[in-house]
Amino acid sequence: MALQVQPKLIIHGGAGSSLHSKGGIQAVRQSLYTVVEEVYSLLLTGANASTAVVKGCQMLEDDPRFNAGTGSVLQSDGQIRMSASLMDGNIGRFSGVINVSRVKNPIELAQFLQASPDRVLSDYGAAELARELQVPSYNALTELRLQEWIQERQDNFKSTMAGVVAEPELVETSNAGRGTIGVVALDGYGKLAVATSTGGKGFERIGRVSDSATPAGNYATKQAGVSCTGIGEDILDECLAAR
Ligand code: ASP
Repeated sequence: MALQVQPKLIIHGGAGSSLHSKGGIQAVRQSLYTVVEEVYSLLLTGANASTAVVKGCQMLEDDPRFNAGTGSVLQSDGQIRMSASLMDGNIGRFSGVINVSRVKNPIELAQFLQASPDRVLSDYGAAELARELQVPSYNALTELRLQEWIQERQDNFKSTMAGVVAEPELVETSNAGRGTIGVVALDGYGKLAVATSTGGKGFERIGRVSDSATPAGNYATKQAGVSCTGIGEDILDECLAAR
């Protein structure tokens, strides 16, 4: 089917501190450009918005620079628990997983749940789903995230969040600036979708729920799609994306 409108694509790699540093911004941009190019060419060949945002999310989850999938931050107990959601604006349908562990691409579980009667699953249920789908077990931990956590433990977890928002002391470190990721797409048929994926804010207590797999952090209608990043509690207070 011929495209009816010019596709549009917006992606983000979180509110990262390297946005303040020249070296950092170049590296982040390069990662983002690679994703934009690949996903935009998919849209030009007729992929629908949901397929495109899932692909973009997978690529960003696989990039250890960002706090989603591989490279996710650790929670206070030293474990990684990830959250991801997908909303198809055309049919107005939200799906997601909250605090899932040991999978490579949480967004794939959210994608599967689009067609399920139970569309948002948390930790144990998400793990069961991954097992049913025979998703291979995967360790998303990177050395850098482990070192950050060890440092934070020495400091008695005084940071309210890992290095996913602007922190001046991280500006000059080349690896600084990894954030939650999000993708919004308008496909060639005028349909919108949005996907968001995160490792959370980092060092949080067990069971803390990120905004990223709620309509506060990820929402789309026929008219708009919004993916949020920042401190999840603030985003929830405003019900930001849906509003
Ligand atoms: N919003 C995410 C959270 O609070 C973190 C982020 O955007 O980097 O879980």
